Amino acid sequence: MATNRTFTMIKPDAVQDNHIGGILQMIEEGGFRIVSLKKVQLSAERAGEFYAVHKERPFYGDLVKYMSSGPIVAAILEKDNAVADFRTLIGATNPAQAAEGTIRKKYAKSIEANAVHGSDSDENAQIEGDFYFSADEQF
Ligand code: UDP
Repeated sequence: MATNRTFTMIKPDAVQDNHIGGILQMIEEGGFRIVSLKKVQLSAERAGEFYAVHKERPFYGDLVKYMSSGPIVAAILEKDNAVADFRTLIGATNPAQAAEGTIRKKYAKSIEANAVHGSDSDENAQIEGDFYFSADEQF
């Protein structure tokens, strides 16, 4: 069953380059309500845990290093059809293929440093949101 929430992170390069405000503005203007929000630095261990599904992929080690290289902004977002609509708003993983008007088209630097994360399913949105936010931080 589709739920109305998704989870995002503004990744280290975009935080470092002062794009938190610009990205949150695109998110709100895209019709999403911010349910939960925090700036946090992941340890390599926590980043590895978050991306455990990618453990066997060749980019896993670099991704963990990158995601723990500086603070990120984590958020739970709400909108009808949130997961799919947010994937549309962020654009393709590789910014070279991201459509005009998407967050990655505007802010991503490379296939790794691609500015934002977006959950790929309702189930993962729930798991990922709970990874960062306790129940009394989700409202
Ligand atoms: N990634 C990478 N190299 C690749 C593919 C992905 O560094 O060849 C990184 C990138 O930061 C991406 C993340 O791993 O956002 C997760 O990959 P996924 O295929 O799930 O892409 P997404 O769902 O984020 O678009």
